[in-house]
Amino acid sequence: MSLAIYHQAAARAADERKRLAIGTEPIADVRALVEQQGVLVYSTPIPGGALAGCFALIEGDSWILVNTAQTVGRQRFTIAHEYCHSLVDREREFIVCTKAKPPHEKFADAFAAAFLMPPASTAAFFASELKSGVTLGRMVDYCYAFGVSFQAAGYRLTNLGLLTNKRRDALFSESPLRLAAENGYDVQDPASPFFFGDAACRQSVETFPRAYRAASIEAFQRGLVSEAKLAELLGVDADDLDALLDPVEVADVPVAS
Ligand SMILES: [Zn+2]
Repeated sequence: MSLAIYHQAAARAADERKRLAIGTEPIADVRALVEQQGVLVYSTPIPGGALAGCFALIEGDSWILVNTAQTVGRQRFTIAHEYCHSLVDREREFIVCTKAKPPHEKFADAFAAAFLMPPASTAAFFASELKSGVTLGRMVDYCYAFGVSFQAAGYRLTNLGLLTNKRRDALFSESPLRLAAENGYDVQDPASPFFFGDAACRQSVETFPRAYRAASIEAFQRGLVSEAKLAELLGVDADDLDALLDPVEVADVPVAS
């Protein structure tokens, strides 16, 4: 990646964090954060692994599609990447994000890395390891703290000068799932950045943007639509509705303490 793109994207990510007043700490729920900004997030499994996500500007609204047939950490990265398109690539109107990386894709990747893993909090996280070198266990801790994949963390630490390319490539030969289990993490926890279970690959109510879900449920609670219609709107069986009728919170500020 050209250094100019990297630096411009990092600066844009820092500006966006400033605008959102979220400091430099990890973002607990990046989907909720971008949905709070009016972006409509649609998530669904797309097998094959070639497509991470898409951005579309439809009648002035930003839509992003996230492939849930990827680990939770990668989905979070995709959301941040697509959010970047919603901020800086609106004139393109529709972008399909694959492994091909023209400049605007490199920019969005660099933005996502900087947005999810700010330099200040990342350096602080590894402050005690600056001399001895980043250990595998601490790297896993970092992935869990910042909600990122092992690979995204590895590249980010290299770019920030905290890890040499050689050391990173050696770390990449390890299995993140095994490391996480060895370090006491529950890798079957659906919130784990390394989680990739059946649930991630099923269509679910999480498919739809929160604003859409909240509006559908509100219409039902006001008696404007029937239970059967609500189930149809949310793409679930009527039997499964009860569990979904808890209020959908869109206003919580999703920033970790
Ligand atoms: Zn993209």
